Amino acid sequence: MSVCPRCGTEVTKPTKTWSMVGRPSKTGERFKLTLGIFVCPECERRFRTVVGKEKERITLKGIVEEIKGVEKGLVQTLGDLREKVEKLKDERAELLEEIEELKRAGEEKANTLEEEVASLREEVEALKEMLGDLE
Ligand SMILES: [Zn+2]
Repeated sequence: MSVCPRCGTEVTKPTKTWSMVGRPSKTGERFKLTLGIFVCPECERRFRTVVGKEKERITLKGIVEEIKGVEKGLVQTLGDLREKVEKLKDERAELLEEIEELKRAGEEKANTLEEEVASLREEVEALKEMLGDLE
């Protein structure tokens, strides 16, 4: 039974109820709350109130189930992380390879340029000699 917050009419039966387990209190106790939706027959106001509150019994089975759930989550997280790490390792290896290739290409280009500069220098020297001979 509940009381309409608007007009104060007593509403005997909720139209819907459900229960939920609240967060543990400071003492570690958990309460199972039963909530109900009521519709006031006088003013048609819909409202929600707690219709029941009971201490959740902590059972060994409940604790084991909870631990199992946590464990399952952890295993999954570890699996996901491992997969991610492997993927990143692959990516890293690929990038390192690419960097090596770029380095090699860069060195090759530098070598080619060096050779070109050297041959140009030789050409310049040859031209200078030729001009010297003409004087
Ligand atoms: Zn009412």
